Amino acid sequence: MKLTIWALDNKSEDVSVSVNKTIEEYTNQLLQLQTTLDHVGAYVFTKDLQGRYTYANQMVCDLFGLTLDDIIGRTDDEFFNLESYNEISVNDRQVLEQGQQIEREETSRVAKTGEVRTYWTVKSPLRNADGDITGMCGISTDITERLKMEEALREQKVLLDTVLNNADSYIYMKDQQCRFLYANSNVAKLFNLSQQDIIGKHGSEILPAEVAKNFDILDRQVIESGEKMYGEENFFEDDGSIRHYWSVKIPLKKKDQEKVYAFVGISTDITEIVRLKEDFKTLANTDSLTGIYSRRCLMECAKRELQRVQRHTSALTVVIFDIDNFKTINDNFGHATGDNTIVLIVNACKKILREIDIFGRLGGDEFVVITPDTSLTDALAITERLRLAVHNIIPDPDNPVKISCSFGVATWKGEQFFDELLFRADAALYNAKQSGRDCVKYRE
Ligand code: GH3
Ligand code: MG
Repeated sequence: MKLTIWALDNKSEDVSVSVNKTIEEYTNQLLQLQTTLDHVGAYVFTKDLQGRYTYANQMVCDLFGLTLDDIIGRTDDEFFNLESYNEISVNDRQVLEQGQQIEREETSRVAKTGEVRTYWTVKSPLRNADGDITGMCGISTDITERLKMEEALREQKVLLDTVLNNADSYIYMKDQQCRFLYANSNVAKLFNLSQQDIIGKHGSEILPAEVAKNFDILDRQVIESGEKMYGEENFFEDDGSIRHYWSVKIPLKKKDQEKVYAFVGISTDITEIVRLKEDFKTLANTDSLTGIYSRRCLMECAKRELQRVQRHTSALTVVIFDIDNFKTINDNFGHATGDNTIVLIVNACKKILREIDIFGRLGGDEFVVITPDTSLTDALAITERLRLAVHNIIPDPDNPVKISCSFGVATWKGEQFFDELLFRADAALYNAKQSGRDCVKYRE
């Protein structure tokens, strides 16, 4: 922009110089203002009462792909498509006709490029010295990218909320003081509270003391160590039943900082798995027919008892017994009667045995009793009582055969392995069978 001012009155040269100087200052200020407006990061323009452009900054020129001279005097119908033009002119009229300042979103499609963009537009009336509206000025900030980011964020939040609230797991976030910053709907359901009621609370404020204490252990570990932690946590239901959770807790640290400011926890209900594991363990450790220890469990117990007796050099006696002529029972009365005989024998023996005795089925019709901390004399007495108990089983009508067992006894004499001790007891059992059955034999 170039301004040329002529001094008309040559009578006063001083005035002319002064006017020229003022004009120069104004020109400079105007140029500075123009530069500022070109770099303000917004679309700045002015229009007259007919909506014709009277000024547009560089950004407007770039948007329209025209020079300022080409823009001045023209109206928006030449620059925007009809729909955009209508929206713009409604807003402009409100400013020009009613003298209102408006602030609102405007979406427009530039006719030349076809690009649709959204602006936050502030439009104000321009008035002359008498207060009459002479036009309007507008400042439009392009918020297209911000809106896109906000939309993307909203979508991400919807995605995150959907995942968090539909995952089977219990997902939560806690701060350094282990106060909940977030809890998904599963956590809320488990605690019988709303998600909002959980936020800001420490476990001890909303859960029974014992449960909160249990959760606190892993929480503290992850905060103090700054490491990802795994572990089992338990939750007691109102009915007193226990539920098991496998929890992973991930520490959150600010960039370049070692300190944990919060952590995310993901807990999965593993109650069914724990119960199944316990069931499998019981199954593996129990003889399915009689309910006494299986061979596997018997051998594990024997190993432990042997280690104990080796440490304390106390007494340990092993009794092995076998049903006499069991094949005949099976052959004459069938397998079911044979099974029933096994159960009858085991029940009779259980009545004799003490709490400390270990009783298991070695396999087939063979059983083992281990009597810890028991002298040989006492062990032999117990064995004799076992023999008598079996001998005295009253045969039922389905199984009129006389039931008896033969017993072999051996006591620990410094053997390193249980098999060695069992081998001696087995030799005593062989002796008992050879001696006519239904008797107890001891092997030195
Ligand atoms: P002995 O007096 O010498 O021991 O003679 P026995 O007939 O008992 O002979 P042995 O101990 O060798 O035979 C064991 C039989 O027990 C063989 C097998 O068919 C039977 N048996 C093994 N396990 C079971 C079971 O779970 N149920 C039944 N009904 N029979 C079994
Ligand atoms: Mg037998």
